[in-house]
Amino acid sequence: MKILVTGGAGYIGSHIVKAMGEKEYDIVVYDNLSYGYEWAVLYGQLVKGDLSDREYLDLTFAKEKFDAVIHMAAFVVVDESIMEPLKYYKNNFVNALNLIDMCVKHNVNKIIFSSTAAVYGIPEKVPVRENAPLFPINPYGASKVMVEQALKDISLVSNLRYISLRYFNVAGADPLSRIGQARKDATHLITVCLRTALGTRKCLDVFGTDYSTADGTCIRDYIHVDDLSDAHILCLEYLISGDKSKIYNCGYGHGYSVKEVVERVKDVTGINFPVRHVGRRPGDPPVLVADSSKIRNELGWIPKYDNLDYIIKTAWDWEKKMSQLTL
Ligand code: UDP
Repeated sequence: MKILVTGGAGYIGSHIVKAMGEKEYDIVVYDNLSYGYEWAVLYGQLVKGDLSDREYLDLTFAKEKFDAVIHMAAFVVVDESIMEPLKYYKNNFVNALNLIDMCVKHNVNKIIFSSTAAVYGIPEKVPVRENAPLFPINPYGASKVMVEQALKDISLVSNLRYISLRYFNVAGADPLSRIGQARKDATHLITVCLRTALGTRKCLDVFGTDYSTADGTCIRDYIHVDDLSDAHILCLEYLISGDKSKIYNCGYGHGYSVKEVVERVKDVTGINFPVRHVGRRPGDPPVLVADSSKIRNELGWIPKYDNLDYIIKTAWDWEKKMSQLTL
């Protein structure tokens, strides 16, 4: 099976490529290296290209004859999406349409799409189920809803089958520290905490302490990137067996507050780094926790690393290693 992985040189994509490589899939990574790195592609072949370049995409599809596509290439920073919505709609929506268009043209009828918990906005019920209404509260979430809608509509009139995986908060790194979050401007909580512990950032800002949660800070469902990668393998196997399109949440089903994460990071690293409480960050829902019973029951997904300390420890080892390298 030859699989195209867009964004496979990025943080999550490179872990998925690792998991697929270990299962001996034939992999072609298509990445513009805007936030990805060539060294992060541990298996397969890297094609440097942009999804806005329809001609090159067309050539790549014609040459490689893919059996399935995993579409990971996207921008992921919520508050940046509020400041620069066009950037997000162009890359996350228009470029995804380019890709789907090529899939239809070249008769590649299996797509796994990396969606997000941000499609739910502020869910009425938590843990949130896949059939909850979609009311994104930022352009990032909206751009992903638009792709999900396009996939649904196209699948109704073609042989396209897709799985949309709605990721919760992905964190952690390869336990052998070969790959991990390498973006220097990363904004996600655990990475920012660790870089503050290392001293490459001065202080950790806690965005909002007046939410209606037990300690006033936002709650998220943190999932290890290798468990998420395993979920992709299961989705691929499911699609190859030729079944129906599906939407699955991918999280552990329980959450931690920002303050709890900060305390765990201090404990795992043994470093009491500086923290200050500041105002809310725009676009942040108070609580996002997955009901992941659907993927567990239907695909038999059994997470192996449901342990916040392990997630932090693998990310910490990676951060320490990365701080010694010049990328
Ligand atoms: N957060 C924070 N300080 C930071 C980064 C994040 O307080 O430097 C909070 C953020 O407001 C949210 C939670 O941590 O409540 C998770 O944010 P992150 O950016 O990691 O992921 P998101 O949920 O936005 O995808």
